Amino acid sequence: MEEIEEISPQELEAGLKKIRRRRWFFWLTILAYLPAMLFALQSPQSGQAVVITFVVWVLVLIVAVALMALVRCPNCGNCFHMNGFLFRPVRQCYHCRLHITADKKK
Ligand SMILES: [Zn+2]
Repeated sequence: MEEIEEISPQELEAGLKKIRRRRWFFWLTILAYLPAMLFALQSPQSGQAVVITFVVWVLVLIVAVALMALVRCPNCGNCFHMNGFLFRPVRQCYHCRLHITADKKK
């Protein structure tokens, strides 16, 4: 039988903090789209500015999704938001059901 290793509250907190930071980065990237586009449209060469803004935004979004998809659950060690090739930005670990705020509930 496989032995389940207990993790310390510090490790749990550090792991969940990392996940929460990456989640914030992801959602802020999505929220930044509209203001960035409005700002680009107001510039003198708006056509070029919109294209550049869009390309930069897509690149940042790819980085944000990759960082979020690859973050590990501190409890089970699997990817927190991934199940096979499925990416879902939910608030629970896909594998062990650890909640994103599990370190705050005491
Ligand atoms: Zn887990």
